[in-house]
Amino acid sequence: MNLILLGPPGAGKGTQAKLLEHKFSLQQLSSGDMLRTAVLAGTAVGKQAKAFMDKGALVPDRLVVEVVFEYLAGMKSGKGFVLDGFPRTVEQAEALDEWLEERGGGIDRVVVIQVRDELLVERIAGRFTCAICGEGYHDLFKRPLHDGVCDKCASHEFKRRADDNPSTVKTRLKAYHTQTAPLVSYYKEQGKVAIIDGEAAIEDVSRQIDDIFAESATG
Ligand code: AMP
Repeated sequence: MNLILLGPPGAGKGTQAKLLEHKFSLQQLSSGDMLRTAVLAGTAVGKQAKAFMDKGALVPDRLVVEVVFEYLAGMKSGKGFVLDGFPRTVEQAEALDEWLEERGGGIDRVVVIQVRDELLVERIAGRFTCAICGEGYHDLFKRPLHDGVCDKCASHEFKRRADDNPSTVKTRLKAYHTQTAPLVSYYKEQGKVAIIDGEAAIEDVSRQIDDIFAESATG
C-alpha cells in the first residue's frame, strides 16, 4: 500500500507517518527530512534549497523531485511507502504519478489531515525533537516524562527547527493554501482522497488512519 499524507505544516504528518511505519512496516519518506539532510551535508541541492527553506517558501519542484526520486529508486521493492510532505504542488504530483506508472506502481490512498490555521501556529511553535533519536515532543502537548530526558533513548539533547518560528510559519501556511491545497482536488479526481480530523488527539488521528488503511487493504 502506497500512501500520501497531505496537510498543512503542524498537522501531524510526520508523527502519523512514523506510527504507520512501525505498525504496517511501511517505508516513511519525508521530503523535509531529505532536504534538511542535504542542507546539513552541503550538497549542491542542499545549498540551493536552503534559502527557500529558511524563508518558509517551497523549494523549486525540480530540486525536490530529484531528491525524492533518488530516494524512491533506492527503496526496497515490495514494501509499501508513506509520503510525508511530498508532493506539495500539482507539478510534483504529476511527476510522481508518471514516475510510479513507469515502474508499474501508483498511489493507493491520499489521507488529508485537516487542522485550522489558528491551531497550527501554536502547535508548530512548541515542537522540538530529540537530537539523537528524533522522537518528537511538544512544550504543551507532549513533554518528556522526565524533564530534559528523552523517553525513548534517554538522551539529554533536544533541538528545534529553525523554520518553526511565527513569521516563517505564516509563509509556510500561505504556501500550503496556494500551492499544496489544490492537490486535494487533483487526487479527488482520482478517487483516492480520505479526509480526517487532525484536531483530535494523536491516538484518535492514528485510529482514523488505521481504519482507512484497513478499508483499502481489504478492498
Ligand atoms: P517539512 O519538514 O515537510 O515541513 O518541510 C520543511 C521545508 O522543506 C518546507 O517549508 C519547504 O521549504 C521544504 N520542502 C519540503 N518538502 C517540499 C516539497 N515537497 N516541495 C517543496 N518544498 C518542500
